[in-house]
Formats: sequence, structure tokens, C-alpha cells
Amino acid sequence: MSGDRKATGAAGRTLAEDVLKRISDPALFVQDAYIDGTWAEADDGRRRTVIDAATDKPLGSIPNMGAAETARAIEAAERAFEGWRTMTAWARGDILNRWGDLMGRHKDDLAAIMVLEQGKPLDEAKGEIDYARSFLHWFAEEGKRQYGEMIPSHLQGSRLQVTRQPIGVTAAITPWNFPSAMITRKAAAALAAGCPMIVRPADETPFSATVLAKLAEEAGVPKGVFQIVTGDPEPIGAALMDAKAVRAISFTGSTRVGKLLTEQAAGTVKKVSMELGGHAPFLVFDDADLDRAVDGAVKAKMATTGQDCLAVNRILVQQGLYEEFCKRFADAIGSMKVGSGFEDGVELGPLMNASAVEKCVAHVQDAKAKGGRILTGGGRHEAGALFFQPTVIADLTTDMAIWKEETFGPVAPVMAFDTEAEAVRLANDTDYGLAAYCYTEGLNRAHRVSEALDYGMVAVNTPKMTGPPIPFGGVKESGLGREGSRHGLDEYSEIKYVCFGGVAD
Ligand code: NAD
Repeated sequence: MSGDRKATGAAGRTLAEDVLKRISDPALFVQDAYIDGTWAEADDGRRRTVIDAATDKPLGSIPNMGAAETARAIEAAERAFEGWRTMTAWARGDILNRWGDLMGRHKDDLAAIMVLEQGKPLDEAKGEIDYARSFLHWFAEEGKRQYGEMIPSHLQGSRLQVTRQPIGVTAAITPWNFPSAMITRKAAAALAAGCPMIVRPADETPFSATVLAKLAEEAGVPKGVFQIVTGDPEPIGAALMDAKAVRAISFTGSTRVGKLLTEQAAGTVKKVSMELGGHAPFLVFDDADLDRAVDGAVKAKMATTGQDCLAVNRILVQQGLYEEFCKRFADAIGSMKVGSGFEDGVELGPLMNASAVEKCVAHVQDAKAKGGRILTGGGRHEAGALFFQPTVIADLTTDMAIWKEETFGPVAPVMAFDTEAEAVRLANDTDYGLAAYCYTEGLNRAHRVSEALDYGMVAVNTPKMTGPPIPFGGVKESGLGREGSRHGLDEYSEIKYVCFGGVAD
């Protein structure tokens, strides 16, 4: 890849000054979609402007595609399927490992692209690049271990064989909050299982996706196996969901859109994998290590500026520790640095759009009106139109909007409880079921509560639980299916049973 500093990107497009200032290899800033091994424009030439998250200034543009371009991507994926599925898992794994290595080599540029379009602090962006590439390396190996089984036969003389086969062409629709990792967590599993994948990235963060295609190409991913279609969500989504050839859809985003896509998938009975909204409770019992709990709550609430499906949205603290927890937590949150992701020491960046800021404002106003005590923050931040102050609200009650709705911003409400049974009941009082956190030094309580929490994932005495080895996913309206771990391959493969008769009659 060229390291020349030019004012143009991969397809000779002019690059914004801010981009040139931040990335060392302009060829990595790709303003085109990627279909059938070719950098592609929309058929009608339409493009959509992409904005710098922190400054609100234009960063570049991306093709505004629709149904026709999506149909071409599906055809290319169908053509690519046979060659890709018949490669050995070892050969596919070599390519995925090369792809992950390239992400590592260009980590600083990939992280800078992410900060420009998404806004998260640079260290968090670098962390996401490592997280994203770890899925490529993980599934490069897991693909080699997709074992089948021989079942002791109930039929005289026959042999019963079970294998897993790639499901076919797959599609992914991904969000802006983890613009790199939400793609590789899906694509690494799909490709390792032998399936081509078409990705439609979020409008706000297409460049973290197109650079992945650039590196995939360099790693040797054959044309049609990994494609990026950018543009209008509805026509692209509908074209993917209506196509008989697309056999699996993996979506990460809101529960509202997840339900819509699940309905659309029913028309052709596709396999659906849905990673949807979360509304995580964070339980602190009287027997918890308070320092650890405060530190954990800060991290589990404020990562990605609260725009994280695992972000804590309801903090429940037992009466004995309540006031002290609130005080220490508010002190820690109140001292967090807010600003551009490129500024040194910044811990919280901008929110993704104006409606995200409006939601924070609405949740705070509603809580205040219903008796919530604002311990720190509570309003817009002077850093810019898309910034909100890190906020702590004490005395949360179940009639507040924030009790029921995911805020997706840096607003942390805290509530007191008396008994363990009450805490579990309150924590489960939601339609969501992605992640929950529990702080206690009691071994039996840790087991009891983690089992009783109606969530796909529970973290006990730690804010950090994700990574490639774990099955990521939710229950209830937080989703269907699991990503990562050995189970991640199951989303892109189907069980094939073969009965061999007459072997030893
Ligand atoms: P969103 O559902 O609005 O958008 C997600 C993606 O779907 C975007 O690419 C968007 O353009 C696209 N989209 C929107 N409408 C569509 C349609 N009709 N057809 C096809 N595609 C469509 O969600 P968001 O606001 O971007 O992301 C935030 C949500 O994502 C939160 O609820 C969060 O909890 C959830 N999330 C979940 C996970 C998880 O793993 N469970 C991870 C990250 C985010």
C-alpha cells in the first residue's frame, strides 16, 4: 500500500484537510463501495456526505446505493460461494489471519478514521481495532475446529453422519457505535464457516467499513466474498431481505429495526442473528467492595460515551452503601474529561447526532421533574453541539422514562434497594436482556444472583466481559443468536445429516 502523502484517496478523490492531517496513508480512506472486487459508485452517481463527529464539518462522501447495486452484490456473492466454500478451512484461515495482521499494521490509521467519523477517544478507537481484528484471528482458528459427529446407529448396517455446512450467501447490517468490530465479529465467523458476506454499514461510519474491504482485498479475500454496499438503509435492507439467495442476516442495532428485519426475513425463512438494544442493570450489594464497584460503574457506564449496548443504564445500590456510592460515583463521573477524541486525556467524546443529545436532555428533565437529584452534570456540554455533560441522577424511580428506555448517552441514574429479591425483580423489570453487572463479595450470592438475572451475559465484580472467546448475545427483546466463541460459527452454518445404508447388512 502506498505510503505517499497525497491529497487524494484510493480512487483519486480529494481528501479533507482534517483527514490528511490525521492519517498517514491516504489510500486507506476509501470513499467508494466495494462490489465484486471493484470500487463502485452508485448507478445514478448519487453520494451522501459524511460528517466529522466532533466538528460537524464534512469529512468526505460515500455512494448512495439502493436495490439495483445490492442485487449485483448478491449475484457476485452467489458466484463466489462455490469457490470459497470448497477451500479448506486452513486456507480460509490463512487469509483471515493475514487480514487481521494488516489491521494491526495499519492500526493507527484505522483508529484515526474511526475517531474522525465516530468521535470516540483515540485510545478507545485503538482498543476497538484490536478487538475487531481479534475476531479475524479467532475465527481463522475456530473454522478448523467445526467438528461433525458420527451417531451410533439405530438402523441395522447403517452409518449416521452429521456435519456442518456453510449456509450460503449472508448479509450484515451494522451500527455506528462499534463501526469496525461489529463488522468483523460477523464477517470473520461467516467467512470462516465458508460463506460470503455483504455488509451494509451505518450511514455515519462508512469509512471504517471500506478500509476493511481494502485490507481484505490485500489479504487475498476473493472477489465477491466480502462486499460493502453503502447507501439508503430501507431499499438496501429490503433487497437483502427479499433475496432468496441470501440465507442468513446478522443485524446489530436497535430493537425496533431488528423486529422489522426479522419480519422481513420470514418471507424467505432466513436464519436471523439479532444483536439488539440493551438496558443493563448494575447491582451493588452491601457486601460489595465499594472502590471496585465505583470504578466498575464508571467504566461500564461511560465506555463509548455511554453509546454502547452493554452500557449500564440503571444502577441499583443496597441501602447500606447507597449514599456513599452516590457521592464517590458522582465525584468520579464529574471529573471526566470531555472533548474531541484526538485531545489528550479525553474520556468522553461527542454523541452521534442531535437526536441522541435530545434524548439525554429529555431523560434528565423527566427524571428531575419526578424527583431525581442531579449530583453532577445534567445538561449540554460547552465542547460543541453534540456533546453532553457526564451526568449522575440519584433517587431513580420506576415511573421515570430512563427506567424503561435505553438512554445511549452519558447519563447514569442510581436507585436504592433493600433486599436481594427486590434487586433481582427490579433488574429483570425490562423487555431487554443483553447484559447485567453484579457486585458482591459473597460467593453464594454471586451464583444465586447471576443465575436469577434474566440476561444473556452477566459480569460479576468486573465491568469488562467481552472478547472473541465468549458467546455475545442477549435474551428477550435484546436478540437472537450468539456472536464470537465457538458458537459464533453456528449462525452461518447448517446441520447436515447423512444416513449411509447397506454398510454392513
Ligand atoms: P439502528 O437500528 O437505528 O441502526 C442500525 C443499522 O441499521 C444502521 O446501519 C442503520 O442505517 C440500519 N437501518 C436502519 N433502518 C433500517 C431499515 N429499515 N432497514 C435496514 N437497515 C436499517 O440503531 P443505531 O441507533 O444505529 O444503534 C444503536 C442501537 O444498537 C442501540 O439500541 C444499541 O443497544 C444497539 N446495539 C446493540 C449491540 C449488540 O450487540 N446487542 C451492539 C451495538 C449496538
